[in-house]
This record gives sequence, C-alpha cells and structure tokens, in this order.
Amino acid sequence: HQYTEYFTMNESDVLNYALTQLDVFDRDAKLTCKEIGDGNLNYVFLVVDPASGKSLIIKQAGPVARISADIEVSTDRNRIESEILKIQYELAPGLVPKFYKYDPVMNCCVMEDLSDHDIMRKALLEHRQFPLFADHITTFMVNTLLLTSDVVMNHKEKKDLVKSFINPDLCEISEDLVYTEPFYDCPRNDIFEPTRNFAKSYLWEDEALLLETAKLKFEFMSHAQSLLHGDLHSGSIFIKDDSTKIIDPEFAFYGPAGYDIGNVIAHLLFAYVNADSVMEDTSKREEQKAWLLSSVRDAIDMFREKFLNLFREKATDRSAQIPGFDMYYLNEIIQDTAAVTGLELCRRTLGLAHVKDITCIEDAVVRAHAEKFCLIMGKKFIMERSGMVTGEDFVRVVTECI
Ligand code: ADP
Ligand code: MG
Ligand code: MG
Ligand code: MG
Repeated sequence: HQYTEYFTMNESDVLNYALTQLDVFDRDAKLTCKEIGDGNLNYVFLVVDPASGKSLIIKQAGPVARISADIEVSTDRNRIESEILKIQYELAPGLVPKFYKYDPVMNCCVMEDLSDHDIMRKALLEHRQFPLFADHITTFMVNTLLLTSDVVMNHKEKKDLVKSFINPDLCEISEDLVYTEPFYDCPRNDIFEPTRNFAKSYLWEDEALLLETAKLKFEFMSHAQSLLHGDLHSGSIFIKDDSTKIIDPEFAFYGPAGYDIGNVIAHLLFAYVNADSVMEDTSKREEQKAWLLSSVRDAIDMFREKFLNLFREKATDRSAQIPGFDMYYLNEIIQDTAAVTGLELCRRTLGLAHVKDITCIEDAVVRAHAEKFCLIMGKKFIMERSGMVTGEDFVRVVTECI
C-alpha cells in the first residue's frame, strides 16, 4: 500500500503504515499491532516496538459508526479530533495526549500511548478513587471552555474557529440521541423492558418535561458559546492516581459550555449508582458513594472558583468586564450543566448508547431500580435547573431522589 487512497486498515495494514509512513521506528523493527478500540465509532490500534519500548496509538475513522452500520458519519471527524487535540494540548497542558500526526487521506491520527493510565469508567467500575480528579478536570474545562469563548477571544478569530468545527454529522448524533429519542418511544432506543412503563409514564407523558427538552435542544443547536469537547464521559478520560488525560474530542463544536460539565457530572453519578447497586460491603460502598458525591460537589465548586479567577484575569471584551457580568455568565453555565446532567442520565438509560455502569448490573430487579433512580434524578436536574448554583445544590438533587 502507498496510502494514497483511503481504505479502512486492519492490524497488518497499520503495522506496515507505522513502519513506512512514520519516522518513529527503525525500518526493520519487529512491531506488534493490536486493535484495542472499545468505543462506539472508531478503530484504535496500539503499535509497540518491544525492542526499543516505543509505542504509539493510531486511531482511524471508518465511514460508518462501529455501534451501528446504519449511522454514517463523515470521516472528517478525524480532522476535527486532530485539530482539537492540538488546541486542547495548548490550552490545558498535561491534560491531553501528545499529538504526532494527522493523515487526511487515511483519516487517521497518531498520538501518545496512554496505556499506563486506565479508562476512568473501567477504574470506577473497579470502585477505585481519584482524589485529584475534580481538580484536574475543572482545570481542563475552565481552560478549554472559557479561553475559547467571546469573553476572551478576538471575535473574528473565534468565528473562524466556529466555522472550522461546525461538525454537522456528530452534532446530529447528539441532537438525536441526547435531546430527542430518549423522550419518546423511538424505535432506535434500547430500553430494558422492566423500565419501559416507568419511562412512558414518568417522562414521555410529562408535557412540561418535553417542553424543557425542546428548549434545551434548540439551545444546544444555536448557542455557540465555547469550543466543547462534546463527548466528555468517563470513557473519554484516562486516569491514574496523579494524572488525568482527556481523549476522543471528535464531537467538538461551538456549543453551550455546560454541555461538557454536565457530562462529567452525569457519569460520576452513573458510577455512584453502580456502587450503590453492586458493592456488597456496606462501609466500602458508603465510602465510595461519599467520594463520588464529594467529587460532584468539588467539580462544580472548583469550576466556579477557577472560572471566576480566569475570567477576571483574561476577559478582554469590554461588556464582559462590567461588574456582575462574570457571575451572571457563570450562573447560566451552571444551569445548563444541571440540564445536561439530567439529559445524559436519561439518554444513557433509555437511548441507543448505554453505559456499562448500569448494564453490568446482573440482577434484573436491582438494575431496574438503578435505572429508575437515574431517570428520577435526570428529570429533577432538568426541571429544577434554574435554582442550581453550587456543588451542594447538585448533591442535594441526588440525596433527595434516594
Ligand atoms: P471512539 O471514538 O471510538 O470512542 P476512543 O478514542 O474513545 O474511540 O478510544 C477507544 C479506546 O481505545 C479507549 O477506550 C482506549 O481503551 C483506547 N485508546 C484510545 N486512545 C488511546 C491512547 N491515546 N492510549 C491508549 N489507549 C487508547
Ligand atoms: Mg470514545
Ligand atoms: Mg435528524
Ligand atoms: Mg469517539
């Protein structure tokens, strides 16, 4: 292969690609290559040279989603992922993998191998704790979200960025899977049968809730506030005790900043529901749940504090410097965060793409109870978002739903 025309690569193609297209390995190196992807969309290959110890990751976008061949997704998402990884690496140093190369013909990119970290969802399913997580993730979110907004950026440069990352295919997936399908009996939903009746009476027949989901969907589609990661769940986060790295930003586009923060909070809560459902040892279970709730609290409160500090330091727009505007702007973001927390709790329970935190619960009665808990919290976060300000407000929604 000359790699002058796009095709989807298998392990031996990638092995050859790594030897002939990259200036990393000796030409006669005995490389190993393994496809390790576990996501919904792409193919991820780990290439290792056992002799030198060098390794890297090659991620290729296929023409259809891995989770469903019915979903066609533009391979341009690999350009978006590549450019965003570079932008986020600058804005949030240390919190994003090193980026080596983007290949616009093969629609693949080459990045740092993070195999010394664990995917956070897996680590949370093992009921491990990461005391530095809230600190790391809030630095990532404050830097990437505030520094790409009109508050800080030159307005023309910002509009150029908006244009570069319109991302229509992946936005449509989010519009459909997050905002639309979970809220009616859509054939593409994947509903655990014992949950169906509850979904119908508690969500689908609640017109006040449906109206809020419509408002939120149109805000998602039209509020070009910050350059979002767009898929910031615990499967997009690599973690170890002293380090956090955010991967997989192919859903990036200009949208409401609260979208990313709400995703982080929702997936901490899925871990909470998992711990509540499956941990047998009472004291370990309560300790794990307490850590997860304190992480929710800290993620909101540290976001608030860092956001206000960076706002005061970096705001360039004259109007943004008018006293009181910073707090107004932040409070809107936190309300959006609450709404997205709720939407994500609902959509990962009822929609096409589930989370292992819930699906791994083997006992059907326990799982049905867990799903009901997610939906009750989800609706409350959406309906009560206007009163939500602090981390404690988020924790209270959880404790009031128990
Ligand atoms: P998708 O877009 O299909 O969801 P991801 O980028 O989330 O793909 O990657 C899928 C999986 O591949 C991750 O869960 C992880 O196990 C592995 N992976 C991805 N990037 C890296 C990396 N930089 N280092 C090591 N493993 C990685
Ligand atoms: Mg992924
Ligand atoms: Mg559509
Ligand atoms: Mg992805």
